[in-house]
Amino acid sequence: MSRSLLVTGAAGFIGANFVHYWSAAHPRDRIVAYDALTYAGNLASLNSLRNSPLLTFVHANICDYDRVLQVMQDHAVDTVVHFAAESHVDRSITGPDEFIQTNVVGTHSLLKAARETWLGPQREVPGHRFHHVSTDEVYGSLAPGAPGFHEEQKYEPNSPYSASKAASDHLVRAYHHTYGLQVTTSNCSNNYGPYHFPEKLIPLCITNILRGLPLPVYGDGSNIRDWLYVEDHCRGIDLVLAHGEVGQTYNIGGNNEWNNLDIVKLLCDLMDAHFATDPVLAERFSAAPGATGKSAHDLITFVEDRAGHDWRYAIDAGKIMAGLGYAPRESFETGLRRTLDWYLGNERWWQ
Ligand code: NAD
Repeated sequence: MSRSLLVTGAAGFIGANFVHYWSAAHPRDRIVAYDALTYAGNLASLNSLRNSPLLTFVHANICDYDRVLQVMQDHAVDTVVHFAAESHVDRSITGPDEFIQTNVVGTHSLLKAARETWLGPQREVPGHRFHHVSTDEVYGSLAPGAPGFHEEQKYEPNSPYSASKAASDHLVRAYHHTYGLQVTTSNCSNNYGPYHFPEKLIPLCITNILRGLPLPVYGDGSNIRDWLYVEDHCRGIDLVLAHGEVGQTYNIGGNNEWNNLDIVKLLCDLMDAHFATDPVLAERFSAAPGATGKSAHDLITFVEDRAGHDWRYAIDAGKIMAGLGYAPRESFETGLRRTLDWYLGNERWWQ
């Protein structure tokens, strides 16, 4: 049976990758790609699908309840996959209001519209699903050697971003327990891959090396994250939609912990190797250190740490692995190579 999906935040990093992934994996399903196109949204990320008769783009805000309701009803949506969010921790420190608005109020507006569409009078839609995409940051920061976050972990969000995501997780849970909305939630670790806005660490380093700009590293670079290739994340969500238990939460991770400085150094090594073997790169990116035989390592610059910077996140993905047969396919090496190749081949997108 084919589905009719509403994908919020579909022009953002993970949302766009999810739309590409889903269109290929489930070619008979209809998708409404819904996005307000904030600074983080880029419609060009969906360009290659623009002629698909099964994809509709809606330029709107999730806080606009009437619009969400209209779209859900017009397109007979039976599945919501909710990515839309303000997602950059640094921005949440300097301007938390928008995070509360989109992540909390916006999620609530979607939940209300889903309830009205699927559980309203005489409109019971069996098999509906509201899947909420959240973050491991809701669990707070891990001490060295502590086991990874599991689904029963206490919530201890430390930034306005993670607090707003935690609030949205609770609202999703409450709509299940109070109204019987069929929900699932996934909390995932740091994603990387194509279509990633160059304000986040990996795309920032790649594009700054190509432009010959500094590679800023917070503090001493010892903060640890668990990196997940975005396509592996999309497959994890697919498994949860297909086989996940309604009302449950699944943690999705890459079992791949790296500290920030080592990642930056690895990217410098990969880029140096690219420039050493491909002379065309020096012509295309003449400001890059590799264009004049220098190393990208020279660009590493330590900057003042951000306020309340969580030291370590790591995911225990045991539940989705044992319960739903999930396993990440990409190693960090293969995933980073695919990512680098994508940025080298899609200069127009990131420029
Ligand atoms: P992103 O910032 O790249 O994209 C967010 C998208 O949402 C953008 O296209 C933006 O235009 C859209 N948007 C923002 N506010 C909106 C609103 N009010 N109405 C409609 N659209 C709006 O984010 P991302 O990295 O793709 O993250 C997607 C989801 O995954 C988020 O919920 C985030 O919390 C979660 N997550 C991300 C990561 C990661 O590593 N990127 C890790 C864990 C969880």
